[in-house]
Amino acid sequence: LNAFVGFSNLPNQHHRRSVKKGFHFTIMVVGESGLGKSTLINTLFNTTLYPEKKVPITTDLNKSLDIQEISAEIEESGVKLRLNVIDTPGFGDFINNEDSWKPILRSVEARYDAYLEQEQSQHRAKITDNRIHACLYFIAPTGHSLRQLDIEFMRRLAPRVNLIPVIAKSDTLTDEEVAAFKQRILDDIIFNKIEIYRPPVYEDDDEDTVAETNEITSKIPFAVVGSNKDVTTSDGRTVRGRAYPWGIIEVDNEDHNDFVKLRQMLIRTHMEELKRFTSEVLYETYRTQRLEASGR
Ligand code: GDP
Repeated sequence: LNAFVGFSNLPNQHHRRSVKKGFHFTIMVVGESGLGKSTLINTLFNTTLYPEKKVPITTDLNKSLDIQEISAEIEESGVKLRLNVIDTPGFGDFINNEDSWKPILRSVEARYDAYLEQEQSQHRAKITDNRIHACLYFIAPTGHSLRQLDIEFMRRLAPRVNLIPVIAKSDTLTDEEVAAFKQRILDDIIFNKIEIYRPPVYEDDDEDTVAETNEITSKIPFAVVGSNKDVTTSDGRTVRGRAYPWGIIEVDNEDHNDFVKLRQMLIRTHMEELKRFTSEVLYETYRTQRLEASGR
């Protein structure tokens, strides 16, 4: 059961559209190295995307920060998902991280530019969509509050991409520390007027859907634990988790961390919504500003 990722549910999210085209999703991960980004991606999609061929797509944006892309086609219950993961090795790893957000923003916008260019060209039929549908921002589990680096990144990127903050390696904090840390992070987000992604509630949503959406929203910023290792619990179950001398933290246990809710939002219930918001709101805003700036 743990192996079930949930994207085979995509045809349901897609009900009115053609399923034939297949599904694709592009996700960006940002955070200092060692915060568990690759582990979480592997855990989310129950695959070993990393450490396989990381193809550098560009290195000239900034000498100190690479932007890398890995693609994989994964299949579940006959449904195929083409997954692109954009990684940003080097983010926050330098002595001076003041401008760490810049090449990342540039990369997000370059993808919008590429899309815009295709839209304006003659051959609109075969548009390749490389826009980023979600950006997971990994917050170091310090238990204090956001650092200037975090605030600056989120403030700059939130207008351009669905920004999803996660508390990395939350198993290193106690439940009380996580709760207090989340509150301080949310306070900082509000104080700095950062528009992080929040799953919308629609008027025609039924009661269950509204409850589910509220439940997801209540977990933001998601305190996550990643692990692709199976461990055995004291009551003899085999689970994905991390073993400590005092016990086991289970990845897929909602009492232990918010991984399940994050996966639910990203993959099972809101993947289409994230794509729609990217296309209809974030991209459209960028496009309008871009065309205005160029006087068209
Ligand atoms: P990345 O550099 O951000 O991609 O980080 P990695 O995924 O390579 O993880 C770095 C180290 O942290 C590895 O030793 C992982 O096993 C460990 N790690 C990953 N996720 C977690 C987590 O949720 N909790 C803890 N305690 N360690 C983790």
